[in-house]
Parts: sequence; structure tokens; C-alpha cells
Amino acid sequence: MNVDHSNGNSGGAVVQAKQVSKFFGAFQALKTIDMTVTRGETIVICGPSGSGKSTLIRCLNALEPYQSGALRVCGVDVTDARPSIDAVRRRTGMVFQNFNLFPHMTVLENCMIAPMKVKGVSREEARAIAQRFLERVRIPEQAGKYPAQLSGGQQQRVAIARALSMSPELMLFDEPTSALDPEMVREVLDTMVELAKEGGTMICVTHEMHFARQVADRIIFMDAGAIVETGKPDQFFANPKTARAQEFLAQIL
Ligand code: ADP
Ligand code: MG
Repeated sequence: MNVDHSNGNSGGAVVQAKQVSKFFGAFQALKTIDMTVTRGETIVICGPSGSGKSTLIRCLNALEPYQSGALRVCGVDVTDARPSIDAVRRRTGMVFQNFNLFPHMTVLENCMIAPMKVKGVSREEARAIAQRFLERVRIPEQAGKYPAQLSGGQQQRVAIARALSMSPELMLFDEPTSALDPEMVREVLDTMVELAKEGGTMICVTHEMHFARQVADRIIFMDAGAIVETGKPDQFFANPKTARAQEFLAQIL
């Protein structure tokens, strides 16, 4: 079955969500989400706790199914069929709040496993890829250690290298710095800033508003399962259109 329609007519869109709704039982966690992300864009998603940010980002790489609407990510129609799930996961990289590294594997092995298992590259080639991305996140010297031997900031940079080792068309970050001690936030944000400047497509759930101002092309503000407001950072921060965004910004800034 061919689920890759990357030559279809989606233009430069990496993400195209049309009226996507998601339910947990009777509870509607996402309410008719319409969203387009074009190649090279850096998007920051913010909003109160429980507003559906994680759920949205998890739908984008098929970690959660949605119940209505249409979603196309990296040229793949996202459905709950196995070939669609595999195709979208192969094209997206995800970085979680709690790193989610494989504890029984070294840093290097963590970065080698997906290229070998998913892309079928040789062990030798996977090692070269892993080393390249560990250098890119500036921790090549940690390659032989296990995750538990690293600081939180280092673990999160390994998680970023691991995601990059699949050469994803889209990087997804779900509050990547919110589990870190304050002194480690900067090193992870610096890595993300570098990635954004290299021109990849990124969607980041974060409340790091300095980061958002620095690199976001657009801010998406969510509340109660809906996208309430979207705008350029300058406009969003200086002049939020909705009362809900104003209240949110007053609390976090
Ligand atoms: P956010 O990331 O913005 O804090 P989430 O996407 O995690 O919000 O959650 C959105 C809403 O969906 C919340 O009300 C949450 O309780 C609910 N929710 C999230 N995951 C589940 C789940 N697995 N089962 C039931 N409800 C869930
Ligand atoms: Mg969340």
C-alpha cells in the first residue's frame, strides 16, 4: 500500500490539519483544529495546562489517533492504519519532556537504533550518523555513557540527536525544557535555536517566551482544546487579540 503522496498538491505544507477533533471517551481534547505549517517554519505552541498542546503534537506523529477531520503530515495522510503510522513516524522526530531515552543503551546506541531498525542502515553507517549528530548537539564525548550517567540537559541533547539521526522532515518538541533544572535550560534552548536557524521545520510546545521571540515564525495559542489565536511573535506578545491570551501572558511573563 502506498501511503506516501509527497508529490501531491499540498504545496510546501509539512502539516495540514483540517477540522481535526480528538476525544478521550466523551471528553473532547481537540476541537476542530485547522493548522498549516510550511517547510522551514518554526512554530511555538503555548497555552494553559490541559489546553491540548501535547495531544495535538501527539496526533501529528500518530502517537494518538484522532476521530474526525483530516490530517496530512510530511506528505502522509495520517490515519490509524499501520502503514500510515510507520510512514509518519519515519518522517518526524519527537523530543519529550522526560527525554525518554532507552536506559539500557549507551548514548551512541540510543542514536543508532532507529536508523538501523527503521531505515535498515548498516551498523557502521548508523554509528557515523550518530556521531555526527552527537557532535552537532555538542556532546560527542558522552557517546559511551548510559543516560543515567548524564545531566538532564545532556540527556535532552541526546534525545535531540537521536531524533535528528533519522533526518526528519519535521521536528516536534513537547516542553523539552520543563523537566530540567534551571541551569540546564539554556544549553537545550541553544541547541534548539541552532536547529531553527538551520532552516528545518519545527513545532515546539514551550513556555520559554524568550526562545519564542527569538526564533518563532508564528505562535499558536491554545485554550480548552482549540486554537484561539495565531500570530507573529511581535504581534502576539505586544498585542494579543483575545482576552484568554492576554490573561495567559500576564501569568507567565
Ligand atoms: P497540555 O499538553 O496542553 O497540558 P494535554 O494535551 O496533555 O494538555 O491534555 C488536554 C486534555 O486532555 C486535558 O484535559 C487532559 O486531562 C486530557 N487528556 C490527555 N491525555 C488523556 C488521556 N490519555 N486520557 C484522558 N484524558 C486525557
Ligand atoms: Mg502537555
